[in-house]
Amino acid sequence: MKDSTLILFTLILLMVQQSIFGQELSGKVTPYVAIQDAAVAIKNVTIIDGTGGAVKYNQDLLFLENKITAIGNHGAIAIPENAKIIDGTGKTVIPGLIMLHEHLFYGKPYDGHYQGRHMTNTFPQMYLAGGVTTMRTAGSLEANTDLNIKNLIEQGNMVGPTIDVSTPHVERLGFIPQLQSLYGDESIENWLNYWFDKGITSVKVYNNITKEDLSEIIKISHKRNVKVTGHLCSITYREAAEMGIDNLEHSFMASTDFVADKPENKCVYGEPSLDALDDNDPKLIALMQFLIDKDVTLTYTPTVFEPFTNREVILGGGSTALAPYLLEQMQTMYNQQINTKRDSLSLIGFKKEMKRVLKFHTMGGKITVGTDPTGSGKTIAGYANQRLIELLMETGFSIEETIKLASLNGAAYLGIETKTGTVEVGKEADLVLLNGDLSNDVSKIRNMELVFKNGVGFDSKKIFDAVKGKVGLY
Ligand SMILES: [Zn+2]
Repeated sequence: MKDSTLILFTLILLMVQQSIFGQELSGKVTPYVAIQDAAVAIKNVTIIDGTGGAVKYNQDLLFLENKITAIGNHGAIAIPENAKIIDGTGKTVIPGLIMLHEHLFYGKPYDGHYQGRHMTNTFPQMYLAGGVTTMRTAGSLEANTDLNIKNLIEQGNMVGPTIDVSTPHVERLGFIPQLQSLYGDESIENWLNYWFDKGITSVKVYNNITKEDLSEIIKISHKRNVKVTGHLCSITYREAAEMGIDNLEHSFMASTDFVADKPENKCVYGEPSLDALDDNDPKLIALMQFLIDKDVTLTYTPTVFEPFTNREVILGGGSTALAPYLLEQMQTMYNQQINTKRDSLSLIGFKKEMKRVLKFHTMGGKITVGTDPTGSGKTIAGYANQRLIELLMETGFSIEETIKLASLNGAAYLGIETKTGTVEVGKEADLVLLNGDLSNDVSKIRNMELVFKNGVGFDSKKIFDAVKGKVGLY
């Protein structure tokens, strides 16, 4: 492009930049905005507010710019004359989802080897379309790209949620070539500070780090007020909790605490020990209590462990989002996996984990949720966030608790619970409006119409339509 053309092009872009409640939105974002009125009232709607409190029916909800200012029984609150009125009859409002294991890459195994591919141009907007208004990446293959995506979204140049960007997986040599980030005795402090200085706001550690590494990582991160989470293997949950880790990924599925004679600092295959573990084993209950005493949060990610048989090829009805070549590969893999011994065993493990998570919750343990779009490739942004809500109900949570796990709990972990995470007066207008009564049928979570982020209403279907057939290409 010639300089003069570039300047003209930039000028035109600047001219179409719109300011909504102090947020600048460019022409790349505005086509997906359906509501941008300064006063919005949703009338006669069902609200599941994310506090865990009972579902409220026939409610009116008002927000001015980006703040919720009134909620009450239908007809009981004052609505300004200029307000945009949305008829909520037969519809449900929930808080914008806050999920904590939302990578911007996708698992695309090659010839039996794990690899991830960055989904720069599809996943950010798909997360928002799937109701996610705030997310943590929980590990990164391209941390610079993730940071740039976060910044582009904040500047109004890209559609997507508010992002807590995590470090690249802090990892020593393992089986996934894309993941190693620490070498020999290089300075962990320099490495972490490099990322913190760039704007990284959370740390993710992985399978093969040592106890010495983790203890240093936690110390340095906490000094900078950054929390540490881990998908562990070489280190047991008890060891990590003792060192002061904040969060453990995949609930109990990555625990090697029950492997007999586990060698110190070595990653070992833990699944058989978990499969053999009784739900009420005193060692398990003692570990749960220890995690609670040490204030460790577990991130539950059933979406990445969902078995195949009698379930969907792509979770949450996301098949149409895949590029045709990829859908064909996934269908072939699905056909090979269903009705196998391996899949029936995975169902047993999946159900056992549901019981463990419920038990931990009942004991007072802190749980957040996330999708983790890796694994076999069935889990993709947006669609899997909706599927996760259904899986929380399958786990045994009530609809009120399900929504709280997927909103307020994430907000509380991230320390933003006074600003967002529930549908309450004074909170930011981060909300989802969906068609149907979610309290009566959880599959209505798939009927999202509007996702409000900071008071700006995005058209969920329009965003999903724009990326149809593209996942796997970009
Ligand atoms: Zn992950």
